[in-house]
Amino acid sequence: MSSSSTSMTIEEIDRLFYCTECKVVFLFSSDAIDHETASGHPRMQEMAFEE
Ligand SMILES: [Zn+2]
Repeated sequence: MSSSSTSMTIEEIDRLFYCTECKVVFLFSSDAIDHETASGHPRMQEMAFEE
């Protein structure tokens, strides 16, 4: 058996990032940080998936 299908690394998403200024949701913290830096919106909210 060959299991060489690990070429694509999928980042596990356990939380969302939500900008309360422009109501945009980001999946990745890097995207949220980019938006925060680019727009200057400081109200970034983290929403963790909890059970
Ligand atoms: Zn924003």
